[in-house]
Amino acid sequence: MWSPDEVASLCYNHFNNLPKRGKPEAGREWTLLAAVILLTDSSDQKTVHKQVVSLGTGTKCIGQSAMSMKGEILNDSHAEVIARRGCVRYLTEQLYRAVSGQSSDVFCPGSEEGKWTVKSGVSFLFFTSQTPCGDASIFPMTGNQAQPCEPVKSIQSEDSERRGLKRQAESELEETRQGQRIKTSDSHSSHRKSGDTEEHDIITENKGSNPSNKVLHCQPEVEKVQPPDLHRTGAKCVPDSPADPLQGLVYHRFGALRVKPGRGERTLSLSCSDKLARWGVLGFQGALLSHYLEAPVYFRAVVVGKCLYNHQAMQRALKTRCSDVRDLPSGFSVHAPEILQSSLEFPHNHTHTESKHTHTQGRISPCGAAISWCAVSQQPLDVTANGYKQGVTKKALGTLQARSLISKVELFHSFLKLVAATKDSQLPESLCGKDLKTYWDYKQAAGLYQQAWTQLRLQAFPLWPRSPRELLLFS
Ligand SMILES: [Zn+2]
Repeated sequence: MWSPDEVASLCYNHFNNLPKRGKPEAGREWTLLAAVILLTDSSDQKTVHKQVVSLGTGTKCIGQSAMSMKGEILNDSHAEVIARRGCVRYLTEQLYRAVSGQSSDVFCPGSEEGKWTVKSGVSFLFFTSQTPCGDASIFPMTGNQAQPCEPVKSIQSEDSERRGLKRQAESELEETRQGQRIKTSDSHSSHRKSGDTEEHDIITENKGSNPSNKVLHCQPEVEKVQPPDLHRTGAKCVPDSPADPLQGLVYHRFGALRVKPGRGERTLSLSCSDKLARWGVLGFQGALLSHYLEAPVYFRAVVVGKCLYNHQAMQRALKTRCSDVRDLPSGFSVHAPEILQSSLEFPHNHTHTESKHTHTQGRISPCGAAISWCAVSQQPLDVTANGYKQGVTKKALGTLQARSLISKVELFHSFLKLVAATKDSQLPESLCGKDLKTYWDYKQAAGLYQQAWTQLRLQAFPLWPRSPRELLLFS
């Protein structure tokens, strides 16, 4: 019905057809791409219509001191987060159409008054051109591409997921100890951290590498055995959690919540691995839209483009960490997406950009802009830099023109338009008879969503930092 390669090429083509604004300079700048794809079964269920409904690019994340009390700035501009926010904008318009009696591609009336449900035969996929930052990026180096010997597979790794995270990690380490006998010095070197800016990439440091840069052959000599190592991330553990051991195969802890990687000022934004895991339990629609929905909206699959990738680490980061969460309120469930990888590479990723780079072009760097495109009727394209509309002058900061249409405050205002367009008799019960004013008020009033979040936090993510309340009190 659909394949990972079809999904990837649909997303890459969609990106190619967007205007140039905000795109990376070929051969010098790289970026990351993520998208949400709407799947609609045909009436005979023999074909599936695939449509990109939101696409995002971006590599940056702002520091804590730049956050806005008015919800005006995008704190987190990693492609995955931009694509999710654009999708919330799209879903808000689809709900607006539904409540105002127009046709919607997504929603139909639910069984309860004032609630809506996703139409039968409609579902959503998430695509990301790279392994999400944070926990999914942490896995033992196996050096498959550069490995002259076939790595030895450990039998115990095959059923590791069932035995829980700790034992899975142990088995991964064991597999690597057995498999990683010999490694060339520059394996995965294209994934090295390249700049001083914040980025979203797997950092590979092969300590104790072969200085002669030659491929070694399979000889069981002790001096040629390299110490096993992990792919590393610049994403630090969240505050108050035990620190990473920072040594060899236990360099990082497995399964930990992490903030976004980067060398600048500390950020409060959680890694994309953590956010994807959260969407797998709470849905990706957010607290506000959950007022209108009978059940959260989940991704049925996550497709990753060709990149440095480890299936076990993806499973652990996105699924296993939350798989035991219980006592969720009505409509919510642990919704583990299928995880698949495409063989098609995003032509603007770091590796590809490096291969096309010429020395006359200056240093390779991550593209500073973030592109959001979503399938809405007005202004579908929204290009930002440093969390504000790209190109705004310093003087214009704080004005309406400087705000991204996917900023908290703009998404909130779109939601308020939806509420205003809803007939009193069709207003969701959770919004009736309450004196709600601020963004915080409307989020807190989404009772079932908040209950689900409490359960997820208690059972899986007790260290997830709370957003400072004063940053959510705008109206
Ligand atoms: Zn990320």
